[in-house]
Parts: sequence; structure tokens; C-alpha cells
Amino acid sequence: MVKCARCGRSIEEKNALKHKGEDGEYEVICQDCFREATGVNYQTFAYRRENAKMTLIAVLFCLAATVYAFVTKGILYGSLGIVLTILVYLFASKKR
Ligand SMILES: [Zn+2]
Repeated sequence: MVKCARCGRSIEEKNALKHKGEDGEYEVICQDCFREATGVNYQTFAYRRENAKMTLIAVLFCLAATVYAFVTKGILYGSLGIVLTILVYLFASKKR
């Protein structure tokens, strides 16, 4: 068990969140205080973070495929890869 730095409530370690305060110091807070401090629900925050990670992976994958296409199939396929990468990026960021 750890204590929330804001409300002093005891929280389970797995529910404790690290939050960077305005002074740049990390503090351990509970989910309620997290919502208060950031204005977003922790679940929403976690979802967005997860989504951003997936987008990054998808874009990196497309970039790798693009480079591969450039090398093996030439500029035409490489250009298609770039278009595809941009489409994936736009689609993924739109969904959020
Ligand atoms: Zn708290």
C-alpha cells in the first residue's frame, strides 16, 4: 500500500499513478486525484496513450515496408508506400 500525495488516502500499489506536478517532481497519486489534476479520466488517458503507441507501431511498420518496397521494387512502389503510411497515420489519428 502507498499513500496518495494529494489526498493522503491509502491506495493499492497497482492503482497508484505517477503524475508529474507543475514543479516537475513526480508524485504518487490515486486515480481520483489524477482526474482532478489532469482533467481526464485515467482510463481515457491510458486508452489514448495505448492508441498513440499503436499508431506509432503501425506507422513504423509502414515506413519499413516503404523502405523495403523502394529497395526491392523501385520508386513507384516506394511512393505507394509513402501514401499508404500517410493514410494509416491520418486514419489512426482521426479515430482518436
Ligand atoms: Zn488522491
